[in-house]
Amino acid sequence: MSNDLSPKERMAIERVHMPELPADERSKNFEEVNQGLSPDQAVAEAQRCLQCKSRNCVAGCPVGVSIPEFIDALASDDMPRAAQVLRGDNALPAVCGRVCPQETQCEALCVRGKKGDAVAIGYLERYVADWAMQHPDELITEDAPKPTGKSVAVVGCGPAGLTAAGELARQGHKVTIFEALHDTGGVLRYGIPEFRLPKEIIDREVAVLSRMGVAIECNVIIGKTLTIPQLRSEFDAVFIANGAGLPTMLNIMGENLKGVYAANEFLTRVNLMEAGRRADSSTPILQRDEVAVIGGGNTAMDCVRTARRLGAKRAMIVYRRSETEMPARVEEIKHAKEEGVEFIMLTAPVAIVATEDGWVSALRCQKMELGPADDSGRRRPQAIEGSEFDLPAGIVINAVGTSANPLLTATAPDLTLNKWGNIVTNDEGETSIPGVFAGGDIVRGGATVILAMGDGKRAAAAIDKYLKG
Ligand code: FAD
Ligand code: SF4
Repeated sequence: MSNDLSPKERMAIERVHMPELPADERSKNFEEVNQGLSPDQAVAEAQRCLQCKSRNCVAGCPVGVSIPEFIDALASDDMPRAAQVLRGDNALPAVCGRVCPQETQCEALCVRGKKGDAVAIGYLERYVADWAMQHPDELITEDAPKPTGKSVAVVGCGPAGLTAAGELARQGHKVTIFEALHDTGGVLRYGIPEFRLPKEIIDREVAVLSRMGVAIECNVIIGKTLTIPQLRSEFDAVFIANGAGLPTMLNIMGENLKGVYAANEFLTRVNLMEAGRRADSSTPILQRDEVAVIGGGNTAMDCVRTARRLGAKRAMIVYRRSETEMPARVEEIKHAKEEGVEFIMLTAPVAIVATEDGWVSALRCQKMELGPADDSGRRRPQAIEGSEFDLPAGIVINAVGTSANPLLTATAPDLTLNKWGNIVTNDEGETSIPGVFAGGDIVRGGATVILAMGDGKRAAAAIDKYLKG
C-alpha cells in the first residue's frame, strides 16, 4: 500500500464515516453501536493525515500518543509498527479509541480541522488497537524488564490504576492492584454500557497487564479490608486511584421513593450484574414504560440509552440548560436521539411525586431560561416562576454527578484532602504521605478516561523515580 501521496492528494480525501448498527435494531439490544472501520477505510483515513511537523494533535492528547507516527505506519500498511507505537504510549488504546472525547482533544487541534474535517484519530486508534488484539502473533514483542525487587500497591482497577500498573510493571516493579468490586475496569466495566464499550475489550486490555506480571486482587476494599497505612508498610509505594463514585444528591422531595436510582447503581446493576438482560442475574432492576433521567453528561446518556434498551417507551433526558451546554459527547447525543430518546431541555426537577404506596409516579419540573454565564463559562439557568408541571415517570434516575467516597480516606488521616474530599497531590501525583501517590477522579473529581490515564502515567514515572532513589 502506498503512503506516497502529495499534500493535495491527501487534502482531497474526505473523512470516513463510522459504520453503525441501524438505530431501530440497536435500541433493542446491547450490541456495540459503532462497528469499526474496514481496512480500506482505515488506510484511506490515515492517508488524510498531513504528517505535520508541528504535531498539534499530540499536544491535545493527555497521554501524548505519537499520533502522526502510528498513523503513518497504518497508512503504509505496517500494522505491527502502528500497534507498537500506539501501545508504547497508551496502555488502553482499544478503550480510548471508543470512549475518548477526541473532538475536544487531539482532533480539536488537528490542522485539517481548520479547513474542514479533522483526521478521525479516534477511529484509527480503535482500528489499530483492535487489529493488535486480533493478531497477537504478529506483534513486535518487548524484552521482559529486569526485576527491581520493589513492590507497588495500586488501589482501584479503573483506567488510572491500570495505566499506572502497566507503566510500573514495564519498569520491572512488582505491582498488585486491589479492587473493591468483583471484577476489573472500574467505570469502564460497571458504568459505560456494552453498546459503547464491549466487556471483551476490557478483558483483553487487562489480560495484557496480567501477562506483564501485574497481580489483581478483587473484592478487597481499602478502608475496610485493609487500610492505606497497612499498604504503605507492606509495599515500597502506593498509588491510590479509587475514583469518585459517591452520588451527588438532588436534595429534592421524594428522592428516597421506590423507583428512584442513582446513575451508578442503575448502571452497575445492568452492566456489571446483567440485571434486566439475563433471567439468572444476581440483582433485579425495575422496568417501566416512562423513565426520566436527570442530567446532561455521558452518564445521563448511558442511563437513558440503557433504559430504552430495557424496554422504556418514553426514555427522557431532563436537563436544566440547553443542548449547547450539555457536557455529553456529541456522538452520544446524536446516537440517543436516533434511538428515540426524548430531550426535555431547560427543565429542572423540583420534586418527585409518589403513588399512595410510595412508588414514583412523576417528576415535578420547572421550566428554566438561560441567564448570564456562570464560573464554568456556561449560561446560568434561571427558573421561570409559575412554570411547574408533572412529567409522568415510573423510574427517575439521578445522573447529575458524583464525588469522592470518604470510605478510604477516613482511614488515612495523614492524607490531605480539599474541601470536596478529593486527595491533594503535587504535579507528579505525590500526596501528603511520602511514597503514597494518587490520580484520576479521586484527585480531579469526575473527569475523563484519558485524564485519569494521564495521571496514572505521570504518577508511575514519579513512583519509579522515588523507588530508584
Ligand atoms: P474509576 O474508573 O472510578 O475506577 C476506580 C476503581 O476503584 C473502581 O473499580 C472502584 O470499584 C475501585 N475502588 C473504589 N473504592 C475502592 C476502595 N476503597 N478500595 C479498592 N478499590 C476501590 N470518560 C470518558 O473519557 N469518556 C466517556 O465516554 C465516559 N463515559 C462515562 C460514563 C459513565 C457512566 C461514567 C460514570 C463516567 C464516564 N466517563 C467517561 C468518566 C470516566 O469513566 C472516569 O473519569 C474514569 O473512569 C476515572 O478513572 P479512575 O481510574 O480514576 O476511576
Ligand atoms: Fe495528522 Fe492532524 Fe496530527 Fe497533522 S495535526 S499530524 S494532520 S493528525
